[in-house]
Amino acid sequence: MAQVTWTITGRLTVEENEVNGSGQPMTRPLTNVEVEVSASNFGAYASWGTVRTDSDGYFTLRETKDQSKRKIKVKVRFTDSELEINTGALANVGDFLSPAIEVFEHANEVEGPSINIGTRCFKAGAGGELGDRDNRRRAIAWYVCKKLINTFQATDPYFDFKDKVKIIYPANVVSGLCYANALTRSVYMHTTNSKDLWDVQVLIHEFMHLWNYDHNSGTANWFGAVFCPPDLSTHSQAERRPIAFHEGFAEFAAWELLHEVWGDEPDSKRTRQLPYTRYALVHDLYLDTVDEVEQNDKGVYRALCLLVGRAIYARRFGTKNTRLDSNPYPEKVETSGFDCPENPKLTIWDVLKVFQANPAKGYSTEWQVGNNDYGVRRFFDRAAGVLDKLDEATKDLLLSLIDPNSVEEPQSRCQELSWQIGGTQPIDAGQLTSVKKPLTR
Ligand SMILES: [Zn+2]
Repeated sequence: MAQVTWTITGRLTVEENEVNGSGQPMTRPLTNVEVEVSASNFGAYASWGTVRTDSDGYFTLRETKDQSKRKIKVKVRFTDSELEINTGALANVGDFLSPAIEVFEHANEVEGPSINIGTRCFKAGAGGELGDRDNRRRAIAWYVCKKLINTFQATDPYFDFKDKVKIIYPANVVSGLCYANALTRSVYMHTTNSKDLWDVQVLIHEFMHLWNYDHNSGTANWFGAVFCPPDLSTHSQAERRPIAFHEGFAEFAAWELLHEVWGDEPDSKRTRQLPYTRYALVHDLYLDTVDEVEQNDKGVYRALCLLVGRAIYARRFGTKNTRLDSNPYPEKVETSGFDCPENPKLTIWDVLKVFQANPAKGYSTEWQVGNNDYGVRRFFDRAAGVLDKLDEATKDLLLSLIDPNSVEEPQSRCQELSWQIGGTQPIDAGQLTSVKKPLTR
């Protein structure tokens, strides 16, 4: 029989309502997934090989065969050279093959040679394996991590991972917690019938632990794994400084990346997380000194939020003894009529850049995540050292704002504008009108 070129086309997407927090369904293309096409005529299926989806989820596979009617079956695996979504077994280590998920099969033989299977979407209510909850979550994990990896690569080559990373879902972890393992380069998302810890923010938190393992110096054999409760409350109050930094950074980076990458979507709830007042540091987090702030997950997390804060000079942080109405967040103050220094407006990308060695500016190694001398104050110093946008005076102000025992307000660096020549003078925060309303998050 004459040979012809069969062409199998289609598109792969996932519909989800979790990533931007709006609860609204969003359809996401599944990029660079492995698509295997098989065909049968009156017999067993034979593979026609694999192709990958493009950046919009489309794929095309061509195969030279005769024109007999055939059934086509299409399976996908979430794996490539950078990322793999594996199914977990009852183990914390080891390698599990990424499952092949069937997304299409003809009921009867059809005429070729051009077959378009349309858009196959992982979503709730979809038939077969497309609608399965665990497959949908695997597709979401693929979409989210692939989007982050691609964004890292496009933003700065330094941000890229050094090797392939894996997401194990559902994992049944002995501790009953999600965690990231530097040795297997895997994130374990604990999910069992009795305890479901699936959450996109937790996924990115763990993923950023792996990023941190790849972007640090001299700590190849430090603690290989960090167990992460979904809220950080079960961590001990005072930890080793590097663990607190590692945890606080992962938590900060997860929220900040959600904001940076998905914050502009319609109805997105992924706003920037805010720093805490001094009162909240002491009375909500029980951190009485800046040293304690530095040795606590949440203290580090809120300190890093300050580093990317937008309206520092329009916020009052208060004292450790005075609870502001906006607690735990700083209070908004009116700054019209005052000339304040420019906000550094750092982003998550600036923060990630601080990890990089910068010998020209005196930093010969990457950030030493596992070194007990490396806490969040040192990170602020290093940020001022390597980032042009952050000057020393602003950095010193930020350090005083994470010190529960300081009373300095950002407004002390503002000048009152005056119509009288030579009439500018420094002000104290008390001169500014407080707008007593809680900030939106
Ligand atoms: Zn963690």
